[in-house]
Amino acid sequence: MKIKVLTISEDILGANKEKARQNQSRLDKHNILAVNVMSSPGAGKTSLILQTISGLKKKARIGVIEGDVASTLDANKVHELGVPVIQINIPGGCHLDANMMENALNNLPLEDIDLLLIENVGNLICPAEFALGEHKRVMLLSLPEGDDKPYKYPLMFTEADVVLINKIDLLSYLEFNIPAFREAVIGLNPKAKIFQVSCKTGEGLEDWFSWLLDDIGKMKRE
Ligand code: MG
Ligand code: ZN
Repeated sequence: MKIKVLTISEDILGANKEKARQNQSRLDKHNILAVNVMSSPGAGKTSLILQTISGLKKKARIGVIEGDVASTLDANKVHELGVPVIQINIPGGCHLDANMMENALNNLPLEDIDLLLIENVGNLICPAEFALGEHKRVMLLSLPEGDDKPYKYPLMFTEADVVLINKIDLLSYLEFNIPAFREAVIGLNPKAKIFQVSCKTGEGLEDWFSWLLDDIGKMKRE
């Protein structure tokens, strides 16, 4: 007897892609630039989002989607800055998908947003596989994680438009080889922009802000 093979994951990803396309055209209609921020837990996604709100709030209207397995801790911090935010909790889950994104979009004031920052679940694996409808993907890696991650989690780095090296203020305490890391990223993804930042001290964030403003501007002109 022939063994039956069910290719469920492919179907899930196919349906997810279609939903992601719908989300993106909805965002396009509202001229919203959506940025999917991915990293492992503790790399600094929430700190990056808080810094970005503070740095850009006079130049762009920002909205945030927070993805977490549990709690509203991160959404509370965003809310305190007076920015519209939706918390998505995924008990037992490990990534956001396009259906969750659609749900969040249904609950955000899309008319009042230029830049939508999406904090994905802290995980270097499957968030890279699930499109949400975002325009840009950002991979945040912090120095304590080590410079070997592009070799271990290549998809995440291959799919990223921007790679942010965070916690650069710790460089003198750690054995992190920046040139080797950059070379590994460029080997996988020659077009990736790489910025060195510290969400704690603010170092390097201006480059990240300019990159975002540039793309927000393009969104408005198109
Ligand atoms: Mg967080
Ligand atoms: Zn997952």
